[in-house]
Amino acid sequence: VLTDPDLKRSFEHDLTGGWSGEALLVVRPADTAEVAEVLRECGSASVPVVPQGGHTGLVGGGTPRDGELVLSLTRLTKIEPLDRSTLQITVGAGTTLEQLQQHLRAQGLDFPLDLGARSAATIGGMVATNAGGQLSLRYGTMRAQVVGFEAVLADGRVVERLSGLLKDNAGFDLTGLIVGSEGSLAVVTRVRLRAIHLARYRCTGLFGLASLEDALRALERLKQAAPSLEAVDYFEGRGLEHVCAHLGIRQPFERTYPVYLVVDCAGPTEPIDELASVLDYVEESAIASDSAGREQLWRYREAHNETVRALGVPLKLDVSVPVGSIPAFTTALRRVVEGLLPAGELILWGHLGDGNVHVNILGAPPEADHLEEAVLRLAVGHGGSISAEHGIGLAKARWLPLCRSENDIETMRRLKQVFDPTSLLNPGRVLDV
Ligand SMILES: Cc1cc2nc3c(=O)[nH]c(=O)nc-3n(C[C@H](O)[C@H](O)[C@H](O)COP(=O)(O)OP(=O)(O)OC[C@H]3O[C@@H](n4cnc5c(N)ncnc54)[C@H](O)[C@@H]3O)c2cc1C
Repeated sequence: VLTDPDLKRSFEHDLTGGWSGEALLVVRPADTAEVAEVLRECGSASVPVVPQGGHTGLVGGGTPRDGELVLSLTRLTKIEPLDRSTLQITVGAGTTLEQLQQHLRAQGLDFPLDLGARSAATIGGMVATNAGGQLSLRYGTMRAQVVGFEAVLADGRVVERLSGLLKDNAGFDLTGLIVGSEGSLAVVTRVRLRAIHLARYRCTGLFGLASLEDALRALERLKQAAPSLEAVDYFEGRGLEHVCAHLGIRQPFERTYPVYLVVDCAGPTEPIDELASVLDYVEESAIASDSAGREQLWRYREAHNETVRALGVPLKLDVSVPVGSIPAFTTALRRVVEGLLPAGELILWGHLGDGNVHVNILGAPPEADHLEEAVLRLAVGHGGSISAEHGIGLAKARWLPLCRSENDIETMRRLKQVFDPTSLLNPGRVLDV
């Protein structure tokens, strides 16, 4: 139990600089039984509880507000033996993505989900947010990787579905419900996950393109010609300039292009020819198949988050639209931002193959509701969602009605009531109560 303000601090301030609060306490249980005991105590003392993993979430979901108790799950790091017959593994919720990746890779396997915050993001947090990342184009989001879970309910009871059976239709799919519930239904303590065989060959291409329309044509070509395709992320020339200035590195090509794609192909045979199938569709390219070279190419894309953070506290939105609508959405978005915030700067990047656009607006005042609402409405107006992968948290709870109907939200409220009748867990997150 941490009470010292200095020790509590990192649990109280999120990475974006946008969310903070003074936690009553930070509690760091070591196992499921201790999690249950903490929840029972908090229930009887009516102290709201904020489950927290690696605290890399970007919507304020795991950051306490004043007086809330932080329940940190980072000590639940036990990795259980791999089941080779199903390629399934059960891990503690506090295991980081990187720890899991290293553990699996040492055994010739891999985890079919990856994201930039891998060194700190925990499996429990990734389950809670139904994390996406660059590989979801091929393997789906976290929901597709979770076979079972163990979680503690708000009253301290434990629900466990860890058998890993490939077929098990006995009753409602509680696993699917817990994934993406953002710590508002239960505290995840153990997770059973799917692994995949480690790809023997892997290569990365960085491509400069003249437009988003060209990027979509390149994506279509890759989908058709590259069965080994794993990831198609994008960023823009403006963002790249900031990234290179922030990191003190040179741009990858002599000239700056409006749009860049980072593409990964991987498989049991050399996929470089499949990756090269896109060359006729791009202006300039760099390809690497060694891990240092690949990391360097991905760095241009992955450093966008920290670069934007270094430039200020952005208005940070994470929307999705149908893939084919990305160019039209982006054009309309620029117009909206220029109209409402002429001095603002729009920096975009995302997972192109999933229609997932990370919208970052620098120069927005702390209370920029009109701008936020305009952008979210625009995404919904293009057939999209106000949250592609980061979740709702505190940041977007009030905007949920933009893309969920009254009946939908009412059904969610009733579910919350069943799981957590006193609203002990993450009050005000997801559902604006
Ligand atoms: C550089 C960077 C890159 C990122 N890239 C991606 C990306 O590509 N795709 C993506 O989806 N996200 C991305 N994120 C966001 C973030 O990493 C994910 O949301 C991640 O899943 C959060 O995991 P965490 O352990 O840090 O959770 P936290 O931030 O600690 O918590 C997130 C939410 O989950 C809840 N929670 C945490 N642990 C538990 C638990 N054990 N039981 C119940 N609820 C829990 C919290 O209450 C909170 O609501 C990125 C973040 C950064 C900083």
